[in-house]
Amino acid sequence: MLRFRNTLTGELEPFEPIEEGRVRIYACGPTVWNFAHIGNFKTFVFYDVLRRYLRFRGYKVTEVMNVTDVDDRIVEQTIELKISIEELTTKYLDYFLEDMATLNIEKPEVMPKATDHIPEMVALVEKLLANGMAYEAEGSIYFRISAFEPYGKLSGKKLEGNQAGRGGRVDAQEYAKADVSDFVLWKAPKLEGERSWDSAIGAGRPGWHLECSAMSMKYLGETFDIHAGGEDLIFPHHENEIAQSEGATGKTFARYWLHSKFLNIENQKMSKRFGNFKTLRDLLENGVEPMAIRYLLLSAPYRTQLNFTADGLDAASASLERMRNFVRRVREAQSAPDGDGAGGAAAARMLEAFQAAMDDDLNTSVALAAVFSLVNEVNPMIDARKISDADREAILAAIERADGVLGVLALGEDESVPAEILELVAQRTEARRSRDFRLADEVRDRITAAGYVIEDSPDGTKVRKR
Ligand code: AMP
Ligand code: ZN
Repeated sequence: MLRFRNTLTGELEPFEPIEEGRVRIYACGPTVWNFAHIGNFKTFVFYDVLRRYLRFRGYKVTEVMNVTDVDDRIVEQTIELKISIEELTTKYLDYFLEDMATLNIEKPEVMPKATDHIPEMVALVEKLLANGMAYEAEGSIYFRISAFEPYGKLSGKKLEGNQAGRGGRVDAQEYAKADVSDFVLWKAPKLEGERSWDSAIGAGRPGWHLECSAMSMKYLGETFDIHAGGEDLIFPHHENEIAQSEGATGKTFARYWLHSKFLNIENQKMSKRFGNFKTLRDLLENGVEPMAIRYLLLSAPYRTQLNFTADGLDAASASLERMRNFVRRVREAQSAPDGDGAGGAAAARMLEAFQAAMDDDLNTSVALAAVFSLVNEVNPMIDARKISDADREAILAAIERADGVLGVLALGEDESVPAEILELVAQRTEARRSRDFRLADEVRDRITAAGYVIEDSPDGTKVRKR
């Protein structure tokens, strides 16, 4: 039975979706004001493993991952750079999508942008104004948390007494944990050059929390199965999402809350704020293979912290190589016509252990250990020529099934180079011919980032999958 540790209760709970056979997930997505760092990608790889495992278990999945393209950081950045929100965010969304593909992260079914959903957000605020859960002050609109009795049920942070928030009101989207206070739903413009939208609730822009309530309910219904995010989002972001949504509908918002622990670097949280972050591109430039990064990020269960080190990355790379070599050896193993079926039996045991581990709140490290016990069991069988054709098929099928979740081997994937990469190669050749080396380098970086390597030789340029 599949179980998840639900942040809402702290318990390991059996998973039962609302609709049989289908799971609806909302996952908090990127803020597209800069490159995502690999800490962010620990969380995005977790979402990916979650959706892949639900499919492994036979569910159909609808995942909505929002794109935050208006918030405090974006507004500040665009004012500083004197560019529009669209200019800034389109660029970084494109980079983000490329990075997702590089890490073999499947694209969620819906990736709504906040700025495309202003009317839905305004409608939600109107509902909250109408039922007294929201009020206006100095042109902005705030959520009255004293009006929402269960406030704090996710994070355990309670409003003490009955005053309208000890800290009064907050406008900032990120605020101190002690500040249990009325938070902003709709912000009147305050800064020179700040983008705002005209609406029935006045000119302004949405507070950060609002988008997730409006877009999740639009695409998944007022109650859906799983809400996921990084641990930093529990408070205030998810607490506030619950308040806005349940305050408006009177219904349970999300049933299972799953939060990933952070990626640390030198034992400190990796964060833009601390300046201690590495982007995927930083690592690729240093010759690290994308699948080794994916392997590293999923090698610890999502609810455990992972410390990023060069040694850890090397170890991930070596494990991945070991897995690949194993697949190669099994493929090339001489068939033993009178094999005793031990290889096939070991494959079946691996899948059972893999599933048991993943059923336990997605314990990827135990699941990987199951794969490696198969490697350890079967390698001597190959040496002893005990692998029959049926064994081989069973072992390869089992590895392929496990990798449908892990996504690190990309077995059965087409080795041919896709048209868009060939197009980029042509662009680069053209740029070199016209001696525009800057453009040529830029195009080459994009090809590398997509997981391909270019080799120039006197006979021309060759491209292949890394
Ligand atoms: P942001 O783009 O800042 O909105 O963050 C996108 C996602 O990355 C959120 O779900 C965050 O919780 C998550 N996140 C941010 N930093 C880290 C980190 N160091 N490790 C894991 N997840 C993170
Ligand atoms: Zn969110």
